[in-house]
Parts: sequence; C-alpha cells; structure tokens
Amino acid sequence: MNLVFATGNRGKLREAREILGDGVQVLSPAELGIDGEPEENALTLKENSLIKAVYFRERSGMDCFADDTGLEVDALGGAPGVHAARYAQDVARRDGLTLPPDHDFGANIDTLLRELSRHPGAPRTARFRSVVTLLLGDRTLFFEGTLEGRIATERSGSGGFGYDPVFIADDYPDCSVAELPEETKNAISHRGKALRAMALWLQENGYEK
Ligand code: IMP
Repeated sequence: MNLVFATGNRGKLREAREILGDGVQVLSPAELGIDGEPEENALTLKENSLIKAVYFRERSGMDCFADDTGLEVDALGGAPGVHAARYAQDVARRDGLTLPPDHDFGANIDTLLRELSRHPGAPRTARFRSVVTLLLGDRTLFFEGTLEGRIATERSGSGGFGYDPVFIADDYPDCSVAELPEETKNAISHRGKALRAMALWLQENGYEK
C-alpha cells in the first residue's frame, strides 16, 4: 500500500520507512511535488497532527499520516508542551525580548535550560509525547507514544535533532539522546512507538500489501 507521510524531515521519513517495512511504500510530499505546509496552530498534539494529515491528504488525494510531538517538562508545569517548536519565541514574547526565528533548535534549548535554571533543585523529569494521525479512506485513527527521561544541565552529542542534546532517556541514563545511534533512538523514541503502533494496526487489519 502507499501512504503519504506529511513531513519534510528526512530523519522522520527514514525512521517511518524502516518501521513500516516493505509492505508500505512511504511517500513524502516533496516526492509528490507538493510544497507548503499548514499552520500548526491547534492546542493539542492530536489536533495539530490531524491538521497536517488533512492538509497533505487534500493535496495528494492519497491516504496519509502525520505526527506531532510535544515536550513536557514537569518543573515547568508541562511547558513547552505542544509549543515545543516555538518555545524560544513564546518565552521571548512573554519577556518582551526580540523574537528568534521559528523552529530555531539552538534558541529553544537555550530557553529551556534558562527557564529550568529558575527552578534550582526541582526535578528535571520530562517526556516527549507523539501523536500520529492516520487518514485511511474514511477512517481517522490516532496512535500515541511517549519517551520518559529528564533534561540535562548542558548539551552533549551531535545526533538526532531538536531537544535531543539535552534529553536523557530513562532507558539510557548515561548519555543524551543525541549521543545514541539512530537505530537505538528509533527503538525507544516516542515517535517510533507511535509509528510501530500504527504499523501493527495496519498489519492486523490486512493493509500491509
Ligand atoms: P514536530 O512534531 O516535528 O513539529 O516537533 C515539534 C518540536 O518538538 C520540534 O521542533 C523539536 O524541537 C521537538 N522534537 C520533535 N521530535 C523530537 C525528537 O525526536 N527529539 C528531539 N526533539 C524533538
């Protein structure tokens, strides 16, 4: 079967292809000549992933899936949450400072470490949460995955993306996720879990052909 993955992120595409295997051909919007992306302005991961899936289903006319990920830091009351991609901007706006660009991973990490430094002694526990929306014919299905861990006090490693250099997974407490081999990250990650749940559903329902 063919499925469009509503993402421009090559790492995510590689991950999805590996998890879904030979029974599912995963196509990217770029491969279909579709550009642009929707505004992810909803308040929940579920709604944001649905917005992305609907946008690319409408443009491709094909069955489609999309993911959305948030980072919940307990000492920050669950922030940045669904706003993980624009955390630095949100905090700069709150503090009346010049806004950094959208999706600036470096600025987002700097902001996170700075905000946490205001809570000395507080636990640094956190989790990534991903929701995958699958639009299959007239069905809408949701799959979820989480990765528990904590926020380091400084960056380490150069792999992965986003907050990986400061996220320490409970399963691998001696290094950041950015120091893990890609296969190891995929095996434990929030998105990997959600994608594997979707793969299992497709398999059990006879779609992987
Ligand atoms: P999105 O769902 O890909 O839009 O992700 C939202 C934000 O969460 C991104 O901008 C990243 O900063 C962060 N993020 C998503 N997935 C990961 C991951 O696997 N590791 C680290 N950060 C991530």
